[in-house]
Amino acid sequence: MRWVFLGPPGAGKGTQAAMAVKAYGVAHISTGDMLREQIKAQTDLGQKAKSYIDKGALVPDDVILGMVEERLKQSDCEKGFLLDGFPRTLVQAQALDKIVELDCVVNIDVPDENIVRRLSGRRVCPDCGATYHISTLNGKETCDCGASLVIRPDDNEQTVKNRLNTYHEQTKPLIGYYREKGILRDIDGTRSVEDVFSGVKAVLGES
Ligand code: AMP
Repeated sequence: MRWVFLGPPGAGKGTQAAMAVKAYGVAHISTGDMLREQIKAQTDLGQKAKSYIDKGALVPDDVILGMVEERLKQSDCEKGFLLDGFPRTLVQAQALDKIVELDCVVNIDVPDENIVRRLSGRRVCPDCGATYHISTLNGKETCDCGASLVIRPDDNEQTVKNRLNTYHEQTKPLIGYYREKGILRDIDGTRSVEDVFSGVKAVLGES
């Protein structure tokens, strides 16, 4: 069970990954979450990463690769892992190929116009990382875990536009890369969270 979730920002990778990790008992490796933890802890890596994240640009490959390589060595990855938000460039994908053989890459497909609406209404929990959308919160401002929800600093309109451009230029080519390898599975990410997860399970069940 060595999986990658691919897709534009706001496609629901994190939400689906959290559900899949629970269902299959694999390690969840979210490079975005790892970087945000580094920023919170005010490490050198975190400070370097923040300047890129705030612009909607990608953090340099060498920084990300060092971080992921270390993470994959941890014992919880032995039973399998789900990479969420990594790889995001061809360089990262090629480096990953040298470390592990992937079983399946799930491409969660959502058009740009849905992305802008989703991210501008997104609220996240700074404690447990759960994500919500204002359309289903009914005015509620707290997470199920009790913490106050916040807007991610990189979910503002201009940064979202930059993140989408970055996705199209640098990450989207990975769809063709993995399709050619025969391990890509496409999922329509515009449906409800539950319906998308049914699709994810149908794909992962067979991998
Ligand atoms: P995410 O939470 O996955 O949307 O990631 C938030 C931000 O972290 C991205 O917009 C990038 O700036 C950075 N980031 C996360 N993963 C990577 C990666 N694999 N390569 C480069 N930058 C990344």
